[in-house]
Amino acid sequence: MSLSPSELERYSRQLSIRGFGVEGQKKLKNSKVVVVGVGGLGCLSSLYLAAAGVGRIVLVDKGRFTLKNLNRQVLCWQKDIGRFKAEVAKEKLEEFNPEIKVETVIEEITEESVQEIIGKTDVVVDGMDNWKTRFIVNKHCVKQHIPFVHAGVSEMHGQITTIMPGEGPCLRCIFPRNPPEVENIPILGATPAFFAALQVIETVKLITGLGEPLVGRMLFIDGREMAVEIVKMKRNANCPVCGSL
Ligand SMILES: [Zn+2]
Repeated sequence: MSLSPSELERYSRQLSIRGFGVEGQKKLKNSKVVVVGVGGLGCLSSLYLAAAGVGRIVLVDKGRFTLKNLNRQVLCWQKDIGRFKAEVAKEKLEEFNPEIKVETVIEEITEESVQEIIGKTDVVVDGMDNWKTRFIVNKHCVKQHIPFVHAGVSEMHGQITTIMPGEGPCLRCIFPRNPPEVENIPILGATPAFFAALQVIETVKLITGLGEPLVGRMLFIDGREMAVEIVKMKRNANCPVCGSL
């Protein structure tokens, strides 16, 4: 698969990144990324995945946009309130970059549906707002050997790590028990924006082979104090999810 003149121009500023080149762009074009959750994280990660030229983006979200989403879910504009998040995002992303394909799944991920919804893909990006679904996705990614870029945000802080099944810890190694679920997490819109951008950097690195992904490391950023910390995370040999890998 070659790149058209318009693609070469569109992506010209990233083709010249050291080690990236036309080969890196072709890898992105041939890749499929599933974004689970089109909220504060998912709106921004899918936008930058589209900008980077990921050929196939699958958006999974069963919800509709409401007015209180608008402080952070920037693919939703006033006129889109009440519409399905995944459908609105698909329209905007395909208009933004007509070179890519965006698919939607307007369903909830459950133990039963995860195989059909995510199946095989190159990378899964975490845009979820609850741990129950995150652990279902984690288990699926481990089973299918899919890299999973986790992020979680609250107020002005958050965390990000990349799960590479068999190489580093999975989400269950890191959290043996589910953290408590929080309804209506307090959040400033710029917080998921910067974590979503970091998730896209991780995803592009995983697909192109550039750099060193955040495997076995959790990056914490607290915007309130502008404090940054990276904590090493180990695999649990007895992890019920990835221990047998
Ligand atoms: Zn594990």
